[in-house]
Amino acid sequence: GSLVIAVDGTSGSGKSSTSRGVAERLGLRYLDTGAMFRAMTWWLLREGIDVRDEAAVAAAAGRPTIESGTDPLAPTITVDGTDVSVAIRADEVNAAVSPVSAVPEVRARLLELQRKAIGEGGIVVEGRDIGSVVWPQAEVKVYLSADPDARAQRRTAEQGGTDVARTQQSLLERDRIDSGRATAPLTMAEGAVHVDSTHLTLAEVIDRIVALATR
Ligand code: C5P
Repeated sequence: GSLVIAVDGTSGSGKSSTSRGVAERLGLRYLDTGAMFRAMTWWLLREGIDVRDEAAVAAAAGRPTIESGTDPLAPTITVDGTDVSVAIRADEVNAAVSPVSAVPEVRARLLELQRKAIGEGGIVVEGRDIGSVVWPQAEVKVYLSADPDARAQRRTAEQGGTDVARTQQSLLERDRIDSGRATAPLTMAEGAVHVDSTHLTLAEVIDRIVALATR
């Protein structure tokens, strides 16, 4: 089938676990667009490019080859053939990814890759601007949110850390930049269903989205 499910929302709202779960249940592919922005950021840092220098980032954005594997049970992301699945979750990437993602040339480059993958159909796509910009014609659009405390606690547990306050600060800083940028800011897309996961289990959130897709 050609079903496309767009899952947008803030950092740490549970988009990844939810989207993978939905894809698995419905036999769809899965695309993590955040991982693509992270991969670009990882590469810029490795090349020694100043990520706060917008012109330098814009000029370099066309250089790396970024490829996403779309199996929800084992998603992969490579840059120039190197698997960066683990490296893109590092603190340095967390701190640099939102400013990098605000650069229009970065978004244009990745938008092209995203649309190509989605065009093959049958996919759950998670990000910030999927329902608003990347694929507004998606059959199902979800805007996932959760209270900042819940998000920070989940993300800290996921990473096996203990500093919830520091994690929360990092999440909120990314939200601030992602919501405030000029190009494709994080917003609730037209036609999106808002799901607040604060008081729901992962299984409950997945059930709700599966119900939206199969009604
Ligand atoms: O989803 P994740 O938290 O891994 O995304 C990392 C960052 O990538 C976000 O904070 C945001 O700056 C950027 N991003 C974006 N548009 C998307 C997905 C992610 O700008 N569609």
